[in-house]
Amino acid sequence: MNQKLKPASRLSVVFILVVVLSGSILTWFSINNISNQKVLTEKRIQEEQRELTARFSDVLQKQIENVTAGFSNEISSIDVLKDSLNKKAGENDFISQSFILKNNGDFIYPNFTGISDNIIKPKFSSRFKSTFNEGEKAEFAENNLKSAREKYLQCLQISTAKIDSVKALNAVGRVSIKLKEYENAIQQYNSICLNYSDISDENGVPYIYYAVPQLLKITNAGNLVKQLPVFESVFEKMEKGEILLNFNTKDWLTQSVKSLQEIAVNNPGELDNVKSLERHILQQLQFVEEYRSALSELLKKGSLDQFLNAGNDYKVVRSFSGNSQKLLLINTNFTNPAGFLIDSEKLFETLNKTELQLGFEFDYIIEFVSGYHSNSAGQNLIYTSQLNPWFPGQMLQIKPANENLIKDLVQRRSWIYGISTLLLLVAMVLGVVLIVRDILREKHLARLQSDFISNVTHELKTPLTSISMFAESMLLKRVKKDSDKDEYLSIILKESERLKRMINNILEFSKLEKGKSEYHFAPTNLASLVTMAIHEFDYWFEKEGFEVVSELDNQIEAKVDPEKMKQVFENLLNNAIKYSTLTKKITTRLYLNTNYIHIEFEDSGIGISEKEQAHIFEKFYRINHKESVSGTGLGLTVVKEIVEAHNGKIEVSSEVGKGSKFSIILNQQTE
Ligand code: ADP
Repeated sequence: MNQKLKPASRLSVVFILVVVLSGSILTWFSINNISNQKVLTEKRIQEEQRELTARFSDVLQKQIENVTAGFSNEISSIDVLKDSLNKKAGENDFISQSFILKNNGDFIYPNFTGISDNIIKPKFSSRFKSTFNEGEKAEFAENNLKSAREKYLQCLQISTAKIDSVKALNAVGRVSIKLKEYENAIQQYNSICLNYSDISDENGVPYIYYAVPQLLKITNAGNLVKQLPVFESVFEKMEKGEILLNFNTKDWLTQSVKSLQEIAVNNPGELDNVKSLERHILQQLQFVEEYRSALSELLKKGSLDQFLNAGNDYKVVRSFSGNSQKLLLINTNFTNPAGFLIDSEKLFETLNKTELQLGFEFDYIIEFVSGYHSNSAGQNLIYTSQLNPWFPGQMLQIKPANENLIKDLVQRRSWIYGISTLLLLVAMVLGVVLIVRDILREKHLARLQSDFISNVTHELKTPLTSISMFAESMLLKRVKKDSDKDEYLSIILKESERLKRMINNILEFSKLEKGKSEYHFAPTNLASLVTMAIHEFDYWFEKEGFEVVSELDNQIEAKVDPEKMKQVFENLLNNAIKYSTLTKKITTRLYLNTNYIHIEFEDSGIGISEKEQAHIFEKFYRINHKESVSGTGLGLTVVKEIVEAHNGKIEVSSEVGKGSKFSIILNQQTE
């Protein structure tokens, strides 16, 4: 086993080693890469989470600054200030309410007044007062409505200011309803609603609080279209703060809207505007209810220094109402303190909708949690941090939108690397198999070629020895008899023919290998071609004692290359002679079967095993018989090539010890 490796094998071993080594290195790196990738991705996520937190704080700051900016010119005029505040509220839906206060904490806007002690009683002329009293006497004590109306109308005429006009109008309207003169009543109450909405009576109650319920009594589906704008204008003025709100407003308003709904029952869409106004007014009332006392207390203290700045002279005030989701932005530097109520939840929602996550590799979910959480970065990839000093106790929590981000990534990479490694492995094995196969094939061919050379040498030597021996005998005049001379000469001829056949086969094979074989097809009578081939072997048949049977159809003609086809027949006959040892019988057949020409050469010789039958047509292939018959292993290779060049095929059927039959099948139209 101390055999040295041949250079080719050595190269193959080196190749295999290099392939296996590089494959293993690649596999190792890919496994390493997966875990590196995991760590890197986690780091990247944490970085992005930190950046997102910073961006969020930034946007939050900007948003608040944007809300508080741009009020420098409005500080002295309440109406301008109110408009500016409401404009901001309209632009930002996280502003729940804007407000303006008096310095004692009372509301200017929303225009709410509680129970006030110092109502300024209106002053009426004595003539107005006495006429009005007469009217009331006629209306309530005497139940003389017409006379009452007369008196009230006189009051209207003698009235000198809005305050007495509206009082008279209200009374006229009331009597008109009692008199069922609804058209008049509508006129009077509409006038109060449209022209006197800001006037209150001696108890501080605005007249519209009486006018609207009265009007609703005489409003029906028929006149709703005409009346609705009147109601809408009242509610709009209330919303804008032009009509006082008080503790009764809530009930009064809900009752009014309910009545309107009953009237507009068939067409509720008409009341959309009314309902939205109702919602806003109720919101104002709720705000007042919630923050009234807190705000006035705050302002009584005088200073808001302990609160954080929100930019532009605004302070952030929160948590005093117990509602942790809301905060107030108050500016006390205006002539009247003013500001906004901010809904943090809506504010965060708004910020979340901005393009915060633009340019990030992964998507995140931003959530807001209350209470203090320690920063759990890394844990389940959730990053928690304190939001902003304006929102104490409010945490920002950022987690990847895809919870299985890392798992998916690792899984996807594992698949890719796994499959590539497997493919690499398969390619490596395949490469090794191909190399080994090629080496074996090379080796086999080299052995066949060396066998071929020794076979050819042997094949050449036998006939040449006979030729030179018989020629020499004749030359030395050792042959006396004429008959012997003839026999010697025919032996020399037959042996040289054998030599020629063999050389022809080698030449033909060499042409085949180079692809230079030329064919000259001509219509040929096949029976005479077979007979000619048989006659070539007459000498050997006689010498060896062969029985030759020919069953040939003389009619069959085909377009073949006669030279080459004869070579085929001769090769097959030569083999039949060579491989027949005991029974020496050769049968040749030529017949037509459904357009196919069959040419058969059958012997009763040693036969060929089924396994060998598959190989006998391969170049140089020879079966090692114990009989040790000489040959080159090219005869059948040449036969097959020539037959196939005629578009035909060659088949063999054989049984060991019984004989072989080679059949050539040609198409009748063979070219
Ligand atoms: P060669 O006869 O020179 O060895 P061939 O190509 O003609 O080469 O034949 C290949 C092999 O097929 C032979 O070595 C022989 O073993 C086998 N063979 C061919 N013809 C016959 C036959 N008629 N009977 C038995 N074996 C045959």
